[in-house]
Amino acid sequence: MAKAKDSAAMQRMFSNVRVCMKCNAKIRTNKPGKTKCRKCGSKSLRLKSKQMKAGAK
Ligand SMILES: [Zn+2]
Repeated sequence: MAKAKDSAAMQRMFSNVRVCMKCNAKIRTNKPGKTKCRKCGSKSLRLKSKQMKAGAK
């Protein structure tokens, strides 16, 4: 069950990273919902984890 624990930790880690849907800037935040892109100011951010593939960085 150690593996599942690792996976949960990874998810928590990556859930703090969002990607701007306008300029694709990566934004790290611990306040989702209150975050704006620091480059273009857009509030259209998506979770980075949704885009992750196995083996990708
Ligand atoms: Zn942006």
